[in-house]
Amino acid sequence: MTRSLSEPVTSLKGIGKSAGEQLEKLNVETIEELVMMFPYRHEDFRLKDLSETPHEERVTIEGRVESVPSVLFTGKKRSRLQVQLLVGNHLVKAVFFNQHYLKDRMNPGQIVTITGKWDRGRQLINVSNFKDGPKIGQADFEPVYSLKGIVKQPTFRRWMRTALDEAVYEIPETLPVQLLDLYKLPGIAETLEMVHFPNSPEDVKQARRRVVYEELLHFQLKMAALKKVRKAAGKSTTIVYDLEKLKQFIDSLPFELTGAQKRVVNELCAELKSPLRMNRLLQGDVGSGKTVVAAIALYAAITAGFQGALMAPTEILAEQHAETLSSWLEPAGVTVAFLSGSTKGKARREIIARLESGEIDLLIGTHALIQPDVNFHKLGLVITDEQHRFGVEQRRVLRDKGESPDVLFMTATPIPRTLAITVFGEMDVSLLDEMPAGRKEIETHWLKEDSLAPVLRRMEKELQAGRQAYVICPLIEESDTLDVQNAVDVFGQLSTYFAGRFTVGLMHGRLHSDEKDEVMRDFSEGKINCLVSTTVVEVGVNVPNATFMLIYDATRFGLAQLHQLRGRVGRGADQSYCVLLADPKTEEGKERMMTMAETNDGFLLAEKDLELRGSGDFFGKKQSGLPEFKMADLIHDYRALETARQDAEKLLEMDSFWTDPDYKSLRNTVEESGVLQNDRID
Ligand code: ADP
Ligand code: MG
Repeated sequence: MTRSLSEPVTSLKGIGKSAGEQLEKLNVETIEELVMMFPYRHEDFRLKDLSETPHEERVTIEGRVESVPSVLFTGKKRSRLQVQLLVGNHLVKAVFFNQHYLKDRMNPGQIVTITGKWDRGRQLINVSNFKDGPKIGQADFEPVYSLKGIVKQPTFRRWMRTALDEAVYEIPETLPVQLLDLYKLPGIAETLEMVHFPNSPEDVKQARRRVVYEELLHFQLKMAALKKVRKAAGKSTTIVYDLEKLKQFIDSLPFELTGAQKRVVNELCAELKSPLRMNRLLQGDVGSGKTVVAAIALYAAITAGFQGALMAPTEILAEQHAETLSSWLEPAGVTVAFLSGSTKGKARREIIARLESGEIDLLIGTHALIQPDVNFHKLGLVITDEQHRFGVEQRRVLRDKGESPDVLFMTATPIPRTLAITVFGEMDVSLLDEMPAGRKEIETHWLKEDSLAPVLRRMEKELQAGRQAYVICPLIEESDTLDVQNAVDVFGQLSTYFAGRFTVGLMHGRLHSDEKDEVMRDFSEGKINCLVSTTVVEVGVNVPNATFMLIYDATRFGLAQLHQLRGRVGRGADQSYCVLLADPKTEEGKERMMTMAETNDGFLLAEKDLELRGSGDFFGKKQSGLPEFKMADLIHDYRALETARQDAEKLLEMDSFWTDPDYKSLRNTVEESGVLQNDRID
C-alpha cells in the first residue's frame, strides 16, 4: 500500500502512539518530515586492511578470538574488557569500555566483527561496535541521525525503512527533468533511498549532490526574485540634501573622518541623490567608525526634509546610539527620539504622534520601530546596525514603512567577498577598511585557566591608571539562566577582591532594561570601574576609556564572536589588552586561541572561522536570516552555489517556468516570497 506524504507518521505500520510522540520531539509529524530528516553523517562499516589504516582512524575488522577475555572493574558501572584477536596475520588487542557482559560472547576460536578507533602504536582497537560472527549481513554504510538521545539509531532506521517502503512511490519529483538530466542527478525517490540506506560512499555522494543543488537552487531563486523586484520597483524619491549644511556638520564632529569614511560618505550621498533605491551593505570591522557614517547619511536625508530611522539589535546599543547621535545632531537642530520595547503608554503614544506629524526627524530604537502602529510622516532613509542580527523579514517590514526609503545595513561581520556577492547578491557593498588614526593594536594573550591571579594584578594596574575593564563570564551553551548565575558568581568574587578600591558592576540579559541602562550609563560615566557581563555587551557597545578585557572560557566562543567581544576595548587612543582564559582540549581549539592572539584583522579571523567551522556556525544559526540548509554549506559548496545562481536567473527568464508543471516546486518558492506577483502583470 502506498501513502501520501502529508499523512501523520503514526499511520505507518509499526509506528504507534509512543513512537509518534518521540518523533514529535524531533519535530517530525508527517511522513514527509520523516523521510526528509537527513543523517548528519554516515558510518563506514566496510572491512579494512589494518596495515593500511592510519593511526586514530575508525576501522571495521573481522577477527578470531585468540585469548580468554579479561575484565577489570574500575568503578561501580565502569569496566574495561580486553581480548586478543587475530586479524589476517595481525595479532591485535580489542578493548571494550563498560561492556563487560560481552565477555561471554567471545570464546577463543570464535569469529567476531568489531568497529572502533585504531591505535597503531599499541596495536589496539578501542571498540564502539560489536557483532557476533563474520560481517555478513551487516550494512556497509549506516546513516547516523541527530536523535538527541530520544530514539535509538536502529529503531529510527527501522521506521525510516517502513516510511520509504510504504511511501516511496508517492513522493513527487521536485526538480524538473531538464535539470536532472543536465547534471545527471538522481531522482527524488532514488535520492532518499541512497541517503537513508546507501550501499557505498558513492551513493551518499550522488544523493548529496542532488540535495545540495536543490537547496541552493531554491535559495538562489529567492535571491534572484528579490533582485528583480528591486529593479522593477527601483525608483525611490531622490533625496536632495543640503551640501553646505552637511559640510558644516562634518566640520563640527570631534574628529577628522578617515579616508575610508569619506569615501563611503560620498558613495552614500551619491546614491541618496539618485532616483535608484539604495539597498546597501556597509561592512566595517569593529571600531572602524560606522556610527558616524550613519549619522552623516541620516543628517543628509534630514536636511532634504525627510525623516530617518536607525534600528539596533539590542536595547543597550540602541540607547547608546541615541545618546551619541543626539549629542552630534541636536546642536545642528535635529529632533531625535528613542523608541524601544520599554517605551510604553503615554510616552509611546506621544512619540508615535510626533513621528506622524513629522516633528521628529530621527527615530532611534530597537525592533520596536517596526510595530504596525508606528508610522512615519516622510521616511527617507532607514539604517539597521549589525544587520546580521535581524531576520530578513524584519528588514523587509522596516523597508516597507516609508514610500520607498533608501536602506542601509551595517555589519561588523566580515563576510568574505565571494560569499557576500552570492549571499547578499541583491545588495551593493560599501567597505570601511581603515581604522581611525592613533589606534593601537589590542594586545591579546591566551592563558590557562589557572593563571587568574597575575591577570587580576594586571587588570588592577589599568584600573589604577583611571581606565576601565570588562570581564566576560563563562558561557554555558544554550542556558541563559546558568550564564546569569555565572556572572553573578564572578561579580561576587570580584567585588570582594576589589572591595574598597574599585567599583564592580554587573550586566546580564535578565536585568530590566532600565537597570541595564543605568549600569551602562554608570560604566560609561566611569562610576563603575570594572564591568562583569555576559555576552550582552558583545555588539556595538562603545566606552573608549575601557582598555582591559578578560574573557573566561574563551574556547566556547567562535572566533567571530571573540573578535566582536574584544572590539569593546581598543576604541580610544590608549593601549588596550585582551586576555583569553582557556584550556582547549582539541587541536582546533588551540589553533583558534593562537589565531586570536596573533591577529586583530576581522577578515582574516572570519576566513579562519569559516575554514574551521563552516558557514552555519559562522553566521550564527538563528541570527543570520539565512535559510538553514539540511545538507548544503555555503562555503564548502560554493561551486554549486554559483551554478545554482546562474540557473536561477535563467529560470526566471523562461516563459515555461511560469506554466510548466515540471517547475511547480521551484515556482512555489518564488511565489511564496510574494515578490514577483506584481511583476508578472505586465
Ligand atoms: P563601529 O564601526 O564598531 O560601530 P564606532 O562607530 O562605534 O565603531 O566607532 C568607534 C569609536 O571610534 C567611537 O568612539 C567613535 O567615536 C570613534 N571614531 C569614529 N570615527 C573616528 C575618526 N575618524 N577618528 C577618531 N575616532 C573616530
Ligand atoms: Mg557599531
